Amino acid sequence: ASRPLPDSDVLVIGGGQAGLSGAYYLQHFGLTGRYQLLDAAAHPGGAWQFRWPTLTLAGANRVHDLPGFGLIEALGESEVHDGTVKASSAVPRYYSMYEDKFSLAVHRPFRVRSVRRDDTGFVTTLSDGFDITSRTLINATGTWERPFVPHVPGIEEFAGRQLHTHDYSGPAEFAGKRILVVGAGISAVQLLIEIARNAPGAQTFWTSRTEPTFGSPDFSPDRGREAVARVEQRVRAGLPPTSVVSVTGLPLTPAIADARADGILSDWRPMFGRITPTGVAWDCGALAGKTLDVDVIFWNTGFRSSLDHLSPLRLRGPGGGIVMTGRLATTVESDPRIQLIGYGPSASTIGANRAGREAARNIAAFLAA
Ligand code: FAD
Repeated sequence: ASRPLPDSDVLVIGGGQAGLSGAYYLQHFGLTGRYQLLDAAAHPGGAWQFRWPTLTLAGANRVHDLPGFGLIEALGESEVHDGTVKASSAVPRYYSMYEDKFSLAVHRPFRVRSVRRDDTGFVTTLSDGFDITSRTLINATGTWERPFVPHVPGIEEFAGRQLHTHDYSGPAEFAGKRILVVGAGISAVQLLIEIARNAPGAQTFWTSRTEPTFGSPDFSPDRGREAVARVEQRVRAGLPPTSVVSVTGLPLTPAIADARADGILSDWRPMFGRITPTGVAWDCGALAGKTLDVDVIFWNTGFRSSLDHLSPLRLRGPGGGIVMTGRLATTVESDPRIQLIGYGPSASTIGANRAGREAARNIAAFLAA
């Protein structure tokens, strides 16, 4: 891999959908040669290369085309529509072709350890100690590296296995086990169904903080826009973003409808209050006094933004999040030289595309001024 240069006008951190879109638009706005992109992973693909092996391209919500070179154009109609193609190999191949097609200035594997300000802009320190200065920053580091598990009393006492979506590798290991799936998002539902149908002898249970709501089979453009607008409002107010999916409700896809008809999703219960060595327990509400013994607690409780490397910049405000501004809320209000993409309202493949364009436009305007 080529080493990054010690200085550039723009430093893009992260090479997933958001970072690639940002790089494409930086070139589009005339900044070829004035930016460089660093990615911590050894190979192209952003977080998609680490998704569980049973997630197919068809089983993902939808992977949107990157600007200027679509998924079908890259991989071909038959591969994209073949229900067995793994997302963890198809999307990385697509991103790799994309990087080559537009000769994007991607350097990997280089992990950013921290970013601080200096007189002219920013000093970014890599995990090997190398420093890079830049006038501006586009941060596109996603959420995959920050799996979130809520703190529940007793969590460290549990004698069984606990894992997060991040660590799931397929249903086989759950054969014959009692598994409690925690979470009300798409991953929780998809993986609960997958385990219930494919792990012989497994018994699944389902719990979440809010009761899951099922909507129409597709995210209609209106509902999608509404959901994104709500998350955008939060980040403009400096609150930590919620997931775009968590505010849309669950799509009632044929697979989910079938699972409901087969009773797989009917055994939902409200969130437990504590964890015991052998399972979980409720101390109040409708299930007060009840316990449930399980072998596995499977946390599908989402992810947080991977932003630890930016902590020396002190971007977080009293609301716990970063106050964002600008047309698509990609600009850090307290320091407009920093653009965050794939963050909050743009944490989807389509949102990342649009945010990449907006961030690149803002940076180009800043550098021209
Ligand atoms: P990522 O793809 O996570 O890329 C971030 C990149 O930054 C990675 O390559 C990482 O190595 C790099 N990085 C991180 N930290 C550092 C650092 N310190 N230094 C250098 N590099 C760093 N969206 C959809 O549109 N459709 C879906 O079906 C869908 N399914 C999803 C399923 C799951 C389980 C999850 C968690 C998300 C899903 N999303 C989906 C959301 C979607 O994956 C992302 O929002 C989208 O791909 C944008 O990615 P990104 O570029 O922001 O982040």
